[in-house]
Amino acid sequence: MSTSLPLRKDLSGCQPYGAPELEVTARLNVNENPYPPSDAVTESIAEAVRAAAAGANRYPEREFPALRAALADYLAVESGVRLDPEQIWAANGSNEVMLHLMQAFGGPRRAVVTANPTYSMYPEYARDTFTDYVTVDRNPDFTLDINALLSAASESAASLVLVASPNNPTGTAASLQDIRALCAGLRGKGPNGSDGLVVVDEAYGEFRRGGVASALTLLETHDNLVVTRTMSKAFGMAGLRLGYLAASRAIIDALRIVRLPYHLSAITQAAALAALSHRDELMAQIAHLRELRDDLATWLTEQGYTVIDSDANFLLFGPHPDRHAVWAGLLGRGVLIREVGPEDYLRVSIGTDTEMDLFKTSLLEVTRGTH
Ligand code: PMP
Repeated sequence: MSTSLPLRKDLSGCQPYGAPELEVTARLNVNENPYPPSDAVTESIAEAVRAAAAGANRYPEREFPALRAALADYLAVESGVRLDPEQIWAANGSNEVMLHLMQAFGGPRRAVVTANPTYSMYPEYARDTFTDYVTVDRNPDFTLDINALLSAASESAASLVLVASPNNPTGTAASLQDIRALCAGLRGKGPNGSDGLVVVDEAYGEFRRGGVASALTLLETHDNLVVTRTMSKAFGMAGLRLGYLAASRAIIDALRIVRLPYHLSAITQAAALAALSHRDELMAQIAHLRELRDDLATWLTEQGYTVIDSDANFLLFGPHPDRHAVWAGLLGRGVLIREVGPEDYLRVSIGTDTEMDLFKTSLLEVTRGTH
């Protein structure tokens, strides 16, 4: 039976976004933290959720002040930047935080500018909010081409310039100098002479190498800057769905207009607070994951691959004469990585020591005679 649906024309033929969800030995395709929470963390979350469930006849706190304060504390420890809880906003994953930004500042006859290659959800946020999606290319080494970004933003009177740092899928971090230049260059260049906003997506911020500073350090001096973060990656809580951002109070007030009432459930708030109370334990694995990343980069380079410098928990490596064959060969051995980014490159997330060993031996088997 065929039904005629009044689907929006621009959504016709579109597929839902998502990487394959397969049962494999090593899941190295969506940049998760490979370590499950400890029993102590699981217990705390379970207790907090039990308490929240006992009051579940009531709507949750709409402005979640306790969670915002705990996130501000976390950022102070992680990046040395002390923010007021009112400068923090949160939602169900940084995907939703980003959607709030697009809903408040994008929209019809407005534009967002990004730097390709980058996170493949960005065009979807734009499509879903009817915002024009304008892209410029990154430099050959995948750093930002600031002049290109500024001219594209100026030509389209963009409300937002959105850059992932470290970038997905390349792992490239943006320098503070570049972020400063963007913030300064967008002054007065937004719709009707407003200040365009620079959104730095630091989903992988905690994995940055020593000496690389977070854009959070610029917030005090740049009020057209927004920095987004997530508990999904370094913090090892992808299943919780908690993303957040830091910005000026005026920006947060704008986001409060477009959020759905009670968008963060009492269960999510309780679980996130409980997880944050174990921040030292959850952050302890980050150093080891960074080490594994750097070791794998060295190993891949020794095998003759080009490996893009990464400040994230994944590596982009190539070139592969037939990347799909390599991807499929690895999958056949229980190793799932990602076909994404430049056509002849593949992206592998950093897993446990055992998963990295399996990845290496599998890659050697799959490419024997062809690489
Ligand atoms: N930004 C980037 C650059 C990402 O790679 C991801 C996840 N793949 C996200 C944001 C979304 O993360 P989440 O919604 O889980 O917070």
